[in-house]
Amino acid sequence: MVASAFSPDTLRQTLKQDFGYDQFRSGQEAVIEQVLQGRDVFVLMPTGGGKSLCYQLPALLQDGVTVVISPLIALMQDQVMGLQNNGIPATFLNSTLSSGEQRGREQALLRGAYKLLYLAPERLVQEETWPWIERLQQRQGITRWVVDEAHCISEWGHDFRPEYRQLDQVRQRLPQIPVTALTATATDRVRADIVRQLALRDPFQYVASFNRPNLYYGVRSKQGRRSQQEVIQLVRAVESGATIIYCSSRAEVERLAQVLNQEQIPALPYHAGLAPEVREDHQTRFIRDQVQVMVATVAFGMGINKPDVRLVIHYDLPKTMEGYYQESGRAGRDGLPAQCLLFYSPGDRGKIEYMIAQKSDPQEQRIARQQLRQMGDYASSHLCRRRLILSYFSEEWIAETCDNCDNCLHPVELEDRTVEAQKFLSCIARSGQRFGMKHIIDVLRGSSNQRIQQLGHDRLSTYGIGKDLSSKAWQSLGRALLQQEMIMESQDGYPVLSLTEKSIQVLKGELHVQVPQLDPTPLSTPEVSLKRALVSEPDQDLFQHLRSLRRTLADQRSVPPFMIFSDRTLTEMAQQKPQTSEQFARLNGVGSRKLAQFGEIFLKAICEYLGERTPQIAVVPSEEQPTDDSSRQDPSSPASIPTPNPPATPSPQPQITSTSSRLGSSYLHTLELYQQGLTVDQIAQQRQLSPKTIHGHLAALLAEDRGVDLDQLVPPVRQRQIFKAIFTLNSYESLSSIREQLGEEYSYEEIRLVRAALFQQP
Ligand code: ADP
Ligand code: ZN
Repeated sequence: MVASAFSPDTLRQTLKQDFGYDQFRSGQEAVIEQVLQGRDVFVLMPTGGGKSLCYQLPALLQDGVTVVISPLIALMQDQVMGLQNNGIPATFLNSTLSSGEQRGREQALLRGAYKLLYLAPERLVQEETWPWIERLQQRQGITRWVVDEAHCISEWGHDFRPEYRQLDQVRQRLPQIPVTALTATATDRVRADIVRQLALRDPFQYVASFNRPNLYYGVRSKQGRRSQQEVIQLVRAVESGATIIYCSSRAEVERLAQVLNQEQIPALPYHAGLAPEVREDHQTRFIRDQVQVMVATVAFGMGINKPDVRLVIHYDLPKTMEGYYQESGRAGRDGLPAQCLLFYSPGDRGKIEYMIAQKSDPQEQRIARQQLRQMGDYASSHLCRRRLILSYFSEEWIAETCDNCDNCLHPVELEDRTVEAQKFLSCIARSGQRFGMKHIIDVLRGSSNQRIQQLGHDRLSTYGIGKDLSSKAWQSLGRALLQQEMIMESQDGYPVLSLTEKSIQVLKGELHVQVPQLDPTPLSTPEVSLKRALVSEPDQDLFQHLRSLRRTLADQRSVPPFMIFSDRTLTEMAQQKPQTSEQFARLNGVGSRKLAQFGEIFLKAICEYLGERTPQIAVVPSEEQPTDDSSRQDPSSPASIPTPNPPATPSPQPQITSTSSRLGSSYLHTLELYQQGLTVDQIAQQRQLSPKTIHGHLAALLAEDRGVDLDQLVPPVRQRQIFKAIFTLNSYESLSSIREQLGEEYSYEEIRLVRAALFQQP
């Protein structure tokens, strides 16, 4: 195997410079190394694990174009926008483009304007697409095929897409090009299917843990209005960040959204019954933080890359564990604490069973039943939820408890109810396995209603033998027996109870029945306070202040707020309160571009905020004070008295003098040579860097108003055109959109410089 030409340092530099991250997440570096060596790769990482970086970063380093096959248009646009936002040339081709736009992009691709192309699978399987692909291969070279959401290729996955079946063409037609397959969800069977169908050659396989330690899992029993109240409470407890509530039907979505709105909680519905433009509008408003709560069917969420979802509620039972893992996994993608709660009633399970019974294909029915059983087991179990989820993906959870699920934090007390269970079971047996739970309980409790008399059930030996327990307690027992498969409910939608193998063992006394306490438990309050999840009390104000600044900036640019900075970055900002650009650049999520674009604005906001508050802050003298006059402190003076100009308090303005060197030394070196009158090419040559890098330096220096003269670099006529394009677009986030607006004769470098100047602080 050829060793990769890129050192670990280069990889890390690119990671920081282009993506703004300090460290690789687990698996990323190993995968990237293999990708750079040209090997086929299979990556299984949970949602939010950071799969995209595994192909985006090498795409930047290698020659040619990396083609990403992605099934979802929303996902594509999102990814491309995010990349462009980081200054990475990426584009997409799908059915949303006009034929003119499409041709333009295809031409630009042939000329090498992009490093990454996102392509809808439907395109690739069309014969017309191939001549162009072959031209792309000849002109620029296709570095790699990346098949995202690769589980869609397998019938055994939960999201099979027939057009994915034809993706084997990429291997057949251009066999020499390496392939990466990525998925967040694959059982062993699906994984083998992917490898076989894409004909991966001795692939490097990276299978990450499915554990999402920051997610809290819990299940609540679902009881009509009471559960609605619980949902309201839960949503209210989410102080910052978003909530998604999944329901199984359109009607339920509308109903719940209405209930929330009546409670003054702004929530939008999302389901397939809404017009596409309404759906899109709701989605955009949600992503842009204009509304915090989305009530949706599972139609919503695929491809939603919103990192700050703090709560995902399933108000109805999902049909499969895989689906549940995916949907609940949209919580906490930023790695901060988030909750996944499921409201469960056995009745919901009955409804799905009924739907499954309507399927004509017996094989399909069998798969669906098994999946539902697993889901039901998860919902009704008193075992660690995390353990159950991981075991579904064949992953073992070794620790005793996870300390972050309802069952681990509040272990259910079990009691032996074998005798009562035997009564219940024999009552079912004696009445001929033809009745529902209510009737069985009526018989047990000796009710004298008309039906019992008509049927002669008052003469059964089990009549009246269960008067010692309330109807409610019997119901709890009945549900527990169902959950443990000690009885079953008929599959045709009628709740008729019958016996199972386990029932016989119980009746014979071979199996003991352990159930949670039969007294209904009181309404539980959220176990994990979301308020405390993000930022501690003292930093909360600043955090909110920075959030609203982010919101304003995002609105001005018509982009979702997380495109400016993630909640994680804002959290760190509020906690660390950086005051220089070096400190700012160290924040997670701040690369050189974000620093140049937003560093100053946020630094200013932090300093102003701290400055304003200075008089109210009691300053404790620090031991590391500089020893100049202003900071000399009388050791006997009480520490809590504010000094007029306390050294430990930040100056209210960010430091932008040259001595503070906000930008790294490499930038300053470029500046020095520039000030000596060297041209960009000369500087590049002398520094043995690419002219592109030097342009990047100059842009950052321009943004900071460090004496770089834009007129020298871009002729004023051209500047005006670029300004105009930016204003027409009303956004300067995407370099490539600006370039598309301007046409070919404008270079990225020019645009970047002008844009930087535009961003200069007056
Ligand atoms: P996936 O495709 O696996 O669901 P993404 O690639 O969308 O996940 O990444 C999830 C989130 O994690 C994104 O917000 C991404 O920017 C962030 N991320 C990825 N890699 C890193 C890293 N090394 N350090 C910090 N954040 C990262
Ligand atoms: Zn647990």
